[in-house]
Amino acid sequence: MAAKLIDGKEVAAAVLTEATALVERVIAAGVTPGLAVVLVGEDPASQSYVSMKERDCAAVGIMSVDYRRPASITQPELEDLVATCNADPSIHGILVQMPLPSHLNAEAVIACIDPEKDVDGFHPVNLGRLIRGVPGFRACTPWGVMRMLDHYGLDPAGKRAVVVGRSTIVGKPQALMLLERDATVTICHSRTPDLAAVCREADILVAAVGRPKMLDGSFVKPGAVVIDVGINRTDAGLVGDVDFDSVMPVAGHLTPVPGGVGPMTRAMLVHNSAVAAARAAGIEPSL
Ligand code: NDP
Repeated sequence: MAAKLIDGKEVAAAVLTEATALVERVIAAGVTPGLAVVLVGEDPASQSYVSMKERDCAAVGIMSVDYRRPASITQPELEDLVATCNADPSIHGILVQMPLPSHLNAEAVIACIDPEKDVDGFHPVNLGRLIRGVPGFRACTPWGVMRMLDHYGLDPAGKRAVVVGRSTIVGKPQALMLLERDATVTICHSRTPDLAAVCREADILVAAVGRPKMLDGSFVKPGAVVIDVGINRTDAGLVGDVDFDSVMPVAGHLTPVPGGVGPMTRAMLVHNSAVAAARAAGIEPSL
């Protein structure tokens, strides 16, 4: 038996179709959705991510406003730029591309973003809303994973979920979102003893580690749902944190890399940006 592939491109297309419909309503209400995209420095990977995000937004009718700044920008200058975007009524979402150059304090910059424009869902207020279980912008990658599970009818309620990784942008919010949907959740990290044994307890296993192919078939309970968040550039190309070939015969469902979680992260940013603009237009979206 081989696992059923979870097609991130297909789910992302469904999310983008909903976002397009929402943006049409926003524009009909007289508001042009606007996303401020702040890119500091010349990192080629960041430049390419930003271009992709701007293209995705343009495709559904969200206008991006590009703020490219040299790596020499100071903390106060960057915080002023964010404050300007906060105050600009034509801007509904603000994206500050990470990582920032090391002389800048990313946490402080994120904290400056108006939580109602925080389409990445990284602001402490939005993380706090997630913990409290109230509406707010959710971080795009783990939120995209939840949409994938829903799309395939994989209800986390009552299931054992194991999340490997405890970062603020993926692992921790992922665990909270699974908990919010009534899974029994374990979070693992680099100090977890006998990781494979813990992972084998999972009905839903999420790998967000950043180590190529680290979770092989011996980490997987037969029939489990395996979500590979990892994106690792290797000589052999892009690979996930999951060893696809050895997990495929064991898992029940599996996300590929590429074509799994990656497209969902991009789609959920568009979703969040559309929602931010809708709220500014007085529309409370049902998404
Ligand atoms: P971080 O480096 O911030 O976090 C990695 C986590 O993995 C840490 O909590 C770390 O533990 C844990 N870890 C590292 N080594 C081990 C190990 N040997 N055993 C168990 N746990 C371990 O990464 P991110 O959360 O930002 O990203 C994780 C992966 O997801 C990366 O490959 C990244 O590229 C990818 N990613 C993909 C996205 C997408 O759109 N598909 C979006 C964002 C990220 P500890 O805390 O103890 O150090």
